[in-house]
Amino acid sequence: MTQKDYRVLLYYKYITIEDPEAFAEEHLALCKEIGLLGRILVGYEGINGTVSGTIEQTDAYMNHMKADARFSDMMWKIDETEGHTFRKMHVRPRREIVHLGLEQDINPLEITGDYLTPKEFMEQMQDDNTVVIDARNDYEYDLGHFRGAVRPDIENFRDLPAWMEAHKEDFADKKILTYCTGGIRCEKFSGWLKREGYGKSVGQLHGGIATYAKDPEVKGQLWDGQMFVFDRRRSVPINQVEHVIVGKDYFTGEPSERYTNCANPACHKLMLCEEKHEAFYMRSCSDDCRRAERNFFVEENGWTKEQVEEQIAKIAEVQQSNC
Ligand SMILES: [Zn+2]
Repeated sequence: MTQKDYRVLLYYKYITIEDPEAFAEEHLALCKEIGLLGRILVGYEGINGTVSGTIEQTDAYMNHMKADARFSDMMWKIDETEGHTFRKMHVRPRREIVHLGLEQDINPLEITGDYLTPKEFMEQMQDDNTVVIDARNDYEYDLGHFRGAVRPDIENFRDLPAWMEAHKEDFADKKILTYCTGGIRCEKFSGWLKREGYGKSVGQLHGGIATYAKDPEVKGQLWDGQMFVFDRRRSVPINQVEHVIVGKDYFTGEPSERYTNCANPACHKLMLCEEKHEAFYMRSCSDDCRRAERNFFVEENGWTKEQVEEQIAKIAEVQQSNC
C-alpha cells in the first residue's frame, strides 16, 4: 500500500488540566500555527481530540505533545487519508470531555474497567458467559459493530446509564465487555458499570475499535460493517479479513453503507441511503422535512409546492405497497 499524504489523529488522555480555558486558547494557537484542522475538547479531566494534517504537521503535533510530561504516554490512533478530514480548527474548553450525564461523575483515573488488548478482547468476546455492550450511539452501531454486541437504544451517550438501569438484570451473571471508537467513552462507562455493581467483571477495549482495526494479529475480525467516524469520511473499514454489510438504507432497508444528511437544514438527520433512492425520497427523512420551509433538494431542483406534493403522494404509494 502506498503511503498517503495526510493523516487523521485520534487521541485522548484523562489527566488533570488546571486551567482548561487558558490551555484551550494556547492549544488553538499551536494547532493553527502547525496547520492542523479538527476538533479538540479540553476539560479539568483531560483532553479529547481528533485532527487532520499532513505527515509533517501531524508529526510536529505529536512531537510537541510527547515533549509534555502530561501527554508523553498518550495513545495515538493514526489513519492515513487523502486530505484534511475537517474544515476548521476548534479547541473548546468543556466541563467534561466526555459527558455521561451523571450527578456524581466518574474519574477513570480512580475507577475504570479492566483494559483489554485487541487480542484479549477478541478471545473473551467469544466466551459464552460474556456479553458485549456497544457504548456508542444507535446510529453508530447501525453502520457497524462487533458481531453479537448489544445495541443500547440511545441517541446520546448521556442516555446510556438510564438504558442500562432498565436492563440491569440481563447482565447480572455475565462478564461484561464494552467498546467505543477510540476508548474514551468506555473509560467512563466501564468505571460507572463497576461502581454500580454490574456483571461479574467489566472489561474495556483499550484504544477502542480504531486500535483493534490496526492490530496485525487480530485484523479487525468479528467486526461487521464499517465504523462511523465524526469527520468528513463518515465511515472507515475495520475488518481486514471479511466485509459483512450490516447498514440498511433508511428508506428501503436494503444493504447500504452510504451516508447522507436530510435535505431539510433544520433537521440534517444522518441517514444511510443508496444514491439511486435519493431523488425519489427527496433526500428527506419525512414528509415534514419534504415540506420544510427550506429544503436543499427542492432548491437544487427548483421544485414548486405542487411538485413537492406530487412526489409525497408517490412516496406514500410505494410505502403503502411495502407494508
Ligand atoms: Zn429530516
